Amino acid sequence: MSEQHIAIKTVAALAALATLGSLAACGNSQSSVASDGKPIVKILVLKKSDQAKMSKMAWAQQLAKDAGVHIQWHEVSDQAWGQQKNAALAAGEIDDVDIDTFSPSDAAHNPDAFEELGKDLDKLPNVKKFFRDEPDIKKTVTLGGKIYVLPSGRFKKFEGAGSHLMINKTWLDKLGLSVPTTWDQLENVLKAFKTRDPNGNGKADEIPFNPKKLETDRITDWYLPTILMNSTGIVTTSNSGPSQSGIYVKNGKVGNFMQTPQFRQVIEFLYKLRAEGLTPQDWVTADDDKYNARNGGDGKSAATVGVAFGWDDSAFGAYGSKIANQYISIPMPAAPGVPASKVVADGSGPMTRFENYKCAMSSHASNKEAALKVINLLYSKKYSVQQEYGTIGTDVLQKGTNSFEVTPGFRKKMAEGSGLPALSDRLAGWVSNDINVTGDYVADHFAKADEAYHEQYKHYNHKTDMMPNYVQLPESEQNDFANTNTALFNYAIPVVARFVTKGGADDDAKWNQFQANLKRYKIDDNVKLWQQAYDKYVK
Ligand code: MG
Repeated sequence: MSEQHIAIKTVAALAALATLGSLAACGNSQSSVASDGKPIVKILVLKKSDQAKMSKMAWAQQLAKDAGVHIQWHEVSDQAWGQQKNAALAAGEIDDVDIDTFSPSDAAHNPDAFEELGKDLDKLPNVKKFFRDEPDIKKTVTLGGKIYVLPSGRFKKFEGAGSHLMINKTWLDKLGLSVPTTWDQLENVLKAFKTRDPNGNGKADEIPFNPKKLETDRITDWYLPTILMNSTGIVTTSNSGPSQSGIYVKNGKVGNFMQTPQFRQVIEFLYKLRAEGLTPQDWVTADDDKYNARNGGDGKSAATVGVAFGWDDSAFGAYGSKIANQYISIPMPAAPGVPASKVVADGSGPMTRFENYKCAMSSHASNKEAALKVINLLYSKKYSVQQEYGTIGTDVLQKGTNSFEVTPGFRKKMAEGSGLPALSDRLAGWVSNDINVTGDYVADHFAKADEAYHEQYKHYNHKTDMMPNYVQLPESEQNDFANTNTALFNYAIPVVARFVTKGGADDDAKWNQFQANLKRYKIDDNVKLWQQAYDKYVK
């Protein structure tokens, strides 16, 4: 999933999804060569609602010209793709090139439909270079030794934890308070936010802490309050992967954090904050619209929320708005008994920048060489930058060999959230480490928010104290893991929800019963699967 658009403009996105075109038919009756003799390459691309039609992206026309082909773009919305994907896979009817639509796992389950791109790397020198520079990212797309789907990597400033702990700095300053560095200090700050009318409207309308609701099938995810596990020294990688099921690593040993006393601490802390009226009483189930509306305050100048996890200040309003400007990110505060040097920050950094499901190719592509040529161009500097930032010369200016500047016109479209002539984070390309881009205010704000964690990233070993994102279960075990999780979380989430709303986690009998039941629901089986996978990939 991509992230910041989840937090902002969700309503607009949903409304606009329906207007995007549907997956075009790609029957064999169509000719694969145009009347001018050039090969036709069909490309399916998953589009966000804020993006312009491919026909409005000049770089996409240049791409066809540079590759000496005609490109038929098929554009599909997230919602439509959700309904069409399985049918397309079942029918084996996929476009010659597919952007942002299939994962390595999709390909592994339907190997006949996909070109094994790992065998074509000699024809994909730009991808080869990507893999040479980022060998760990290559591992994220390699399943059973085969590569069917290529990853993406956007501008390097996007490498950082996706969920940052944001606090209202204007309120802190107004009340003469410092940034809290421990849970006790945080609790005191939240109490002051509740009782001292920091938004100055004479009403006790402040929401000191606005936690995002619990999910039903996982224990952590983007912006969830269980990211507070990092305060205890246990690293989450909440963006994706097994961490969302509680899997963690410490000194090379895999566990599930729901089985730790540290998790109990987090649960008890969340209960305490709710019991003291420092969180909304309904936060456990409040839907995303409600959660986002709370973060937005009155939408003009009066903030309502003191603390929340978010992408950056845009979690509270448009960049530069009176409300968004009040927030800064803060390092994870220490849980009781945890020295500052042991507090860590979420390890999702590479997963925010790199994604492993960006470019696949049909094994039945009628013009295989032409399709490979297009893919190689997509991963060039010229087309990676243009996929992310639009056409060079119009939307983004090239200021030097490796330096680019986003134009005011492009920034305006970013701010308006419509007609963006780029694929932005959905690119099938790689904006390499030597490329610098100025004027991307999303990247700038995100990188600034992430700075608060740079010290805490150094407090753990990113191989032995977290699950690296390239560690994967073998295909044969993925169903077992998923099935165990279904039963496990059907049981566990209602219990966790009860603990954080009604309490009881401090009661040994209740806690021990919870622990015994986790075992009954085979939590240890899943730990064992991930220990084996970890040992295979890392040790
Ligand atoms: Mg007030």
